[in-house]
This record gives sequence, C-alpha cells and structure tokens, in this order.
Amino acid sequence: MGLYEGIKDVAKIVQKADNVELYRQLIDLSAQALDMQATINKLTEENSELKKRQDLEERIVRHQELYLTLKDDENNIFYCSHCWDSDRKLIQTHKYHGEYFCPHCKVNGIYDKAENDKYDRYPIY
Ligand SMILES: [Zn+2]
Repeated sequence: MGLYEGIKDVAKIVQKADNVELYRQLIDLSAQALDMQATINKLTEENSELKKRQDLEERIVRHQELYLTLKDDENNIFYCSHCWDSDRKLIQTHKYHGEYFCPHCKVNGIYDKAENDKYDRYPIY
C-alpha cells in the first residue's frame, strides 16, 4: 500500500469516529508525510545523478594535450577537456591525421605529431 492510499484508508476510519480534532491532526500529518515523500523522491533522484557523475569522473583519463579519454573505452574516443572542466559536458572531438578539434569550444591541437607530419599541413579546424 502506498502512502497516499494508506492516508485515505485512515481518513475513512477517522471520519466514522466523528472526531473533528483527530481528523484535523490527520490532515496536518498527511500533508507533512506527502511533503516528506516528495523530498525523498527529489533526493533519491539527485543522489542517482551524483552517483552517475562520480562513476564518470572515475573513468576520466587526462592527457598532456587538452583532451580526455575514458577508461575501458574500446573506441578510444577523445573528449574536450575544456568543455568538461567548464561545463561537465563530454563533447566528442573530431580526430583526423593526428589532430583533434572540439566542435563546441573550438579547442584544438595535435595528439600524434608523427601521424600529423605525414600529411600536408592543412589543419582540420
Ligand atoms: Zn570543447
């Protein structure tokens, strides 16, 4: 039985007792219980979001250049460290010929100079 259904059942019994003061107290307590339930729901949701964020933080690998990777990421996707540090958003960067480029904040650089030197020097950004 949920909180709301329980309160309704008790209210029916209290109405039959024909005690106005008891009924008023039940209404007050019911309002408090429903407020507490709403607070619990909100905190549970916030806690879940914080756990997700913490799990993600623990997977982040920083590099000398301004990009991030995630532990156990088979695809070795690069994310922008500037966007993560400022907004806690994982923005995937473009990777091409040893260079990376963030489409959001425009941070760019070279992550593999040997690979980059193989190609003509036309930056991707
Ligand atoms: Zn960025």
